[in-house]
This record gives sequence, C-alpha cells and structure tokens, in this order.
Amino acid sequence: MSWNLKIGEIQQSYITDEDIWIALNNFFFRSNVTMSYKFGLLKSFLENLYMVNEKLELNYDHLFYSFTKIYWNLVIHHSLWQSSSKTQKSSIQKIIEEFAKSYSIPQDLTFDKLPSNAQIEIVKKIKKAGKRYVIGAFYSDTGKFFYEFDLKLEYLRFNIPVYKFIQRHQRIITYMTNYHLALFLERNNQIPNINYLLNKVENVSKRESLNHFLTILYQYEEKICFYCGKPLNVAKNNLIHVDHFIPWSFIQSDNLWNLVLSCQTCNLKKNDKLAEEVYLNNILGRNEDLAFKLKEDNQPHFEFYNQEKLIDLYKFSNLNGISEVWSPYM
Ligand SMILES: [Zn+2]
Repeated sequence: MSWNLKIGEIQQSYITDEDIWIALNNFFFRSNVTMSYKFGLLKSFLENLYMVNEKLELNYDHLFYSFTKIYWNLVIHHSLWQSSSKTQKSSIQKIIEEFAKSYSIPQDLTFDKLPSNAQIEIVKKIKKAGKRYVIGAFYSDTGKFFYEFDLKLEYLRFNIPVYKFIQRHQRIITYMTNYHLALFLERNNQIPNINYLLNKVENVSKRESLNHFLTILYQYEEKICFYCGKPLNVAKNNLIHVDHFIPWSFIQSDNLWNLVLSCQTCNLKKNDKLAEEVYLNNILGRNEDLAFKLKEDNQPHFEFYNQEKLIDLYKFSNLNGISEVWSPYM
C-alpha cells in the first residue's frame, strides 16, 4: 500500500520536463482516484509555491492551512460530497463535518469567517489526517520524484527540477487541477453542469477580502497609488484598492510582497496584465523597506520572501500567458 508511506525518497535523480509531463498526465488521466484529496493537495502546493525556504522545504502548517481551507469551503460552504463511493464518506469530509457540528457552525460559513482559534484547531486535525492519507499517496501517484518527505518531520522538500517545472507551467497546472477536481465532484454530486462547479473550485481558495493587507499597507506605506502616484485618502472616500502586482489569475495566492495600494482606475485598467518593468524595480525596493519596517514590529509577512521569487514570477509571467504589459501612461 502506498497511501500510508511514512518516508519517501526521491527515486530518480535526472528528470526531464517530459518525465514530469508524463507523471502529471498519468496522475490526471490514469490514476485511480476514489477521493478528492490528491487534487486538493496539488491545489495547496500551487497556492504555497512561493512559501518554500531556500532549500525548497514547505512546512506542513502552511500546506495544510490551504488544504483545510479548500476542503472546508467545498464540504461546508458548498456541501459537496468528496468520495466516489455513495456510502463511504472520505475521512477528511468526516472530520470537517463533525467539527462543524460539534461547534454548531452554520452550514454555509466560509473558512475565512471562522474565528482564528477554530481555524487553528481544525487545521491541526486535518494536518494529522492529511499526513497519513495524502502525502504518501500523491508522492506514489506522481512517480515518486516530486518531493521527499519523512512524516516525523514537519515539512516536505520539493525536487528542484519539479519545482522549477511547476513555476514555469503554474497557470496551466492550476487550470488542469481545477478542471479535474470539478470533474471528480461532478461525477459524485447531483450538480447540473461542470461550469457551475468549475467556478466554485476556481474560487474556493480565494480570500474573501484583502482588507487585512489594506490595513497593513495603509499603515506602513506612503498613501499614493503605486502606479500613477495619485494620493489615496480614506477620509475623502476615494476608493483604495489592493492590487496583485503579479496578477492573481497566475499566482493564485495573496502575499504581502506581491500587493500594492492603488487607485481604482489603475487597478481596474491593469486587471490581468503585467506592469511595466520599471514597476518591478519599484516593488523590489518597496519590499526591502517594508520588510525592514515589519521586522522591527515583529510582523511575519516577509518570512519566506526573497527578491528572486518576485523576479522569477515576473520572468515566468509571459510563459504563463500573462503577456500583455501595462502602464498607467499608455
Ligand atoms: Zn493610479
């Protein structure tokens, strides 16, 4: 049995892009998926791609925070069944439903709305189950070379060529993962059509609001639009937006180092485009200052940041279909 592996070593030393495509295609099209776990895990990897340290190690707390959020929203908020068996519930679904029931949490509450102590408690439970059921299973299903792990440790470590491959093809892998998760859920739920589910799956890990980041940026930053320089003032009631410098459709996660204050016009016009290269230099400088200030105040937001991550994302944007470059002066 491979699902209950406790240790997984990287089985192949030299790996080509073709090997990785084959492993992914086998995973999507040929593996025998009876529960939705593995799609959820891959979705969580993608969301945490830039949360690794310099050794490409990803902490289980971060990984299972995303994983729990995804499952909570699917199971509680959207009431979706997560197993291919009509009678046998998946363990993760069971844990989440029992938790919601024991605290009398309303059926439609999203994960973001849970009090933080409840979030911590449920993440802890899911981490325990996820380590047991998912880490080894996904490792085996993808050719035993995507990452290495030892369940006694609190992290796994990505294989370098696989990590780089995922960076270069992040967007298409994200779309494939969402599609296959939606397809799985469609097969096992009484739902009218896949577009309905695809939409839910695509947005299941999206934060409800960026207000938390807005507050931090507004406190520490100069109150001007990052792009056009127009003053931003809450008191005057002109709308302040938080913009994803690297578009959300590509990065699919919210990191303070990728967020800037902007005016409504710039945010809406920039939309899914990449800002001109001069803004890359500006945000790198901004991040250096902001990281310093936050560190002084013991705020953790730049824990896994280094400027190469942002430069990589900028560089890989084109490869991921974000090819249109925008400037407020166009
Ligand atoms: Zn502006």
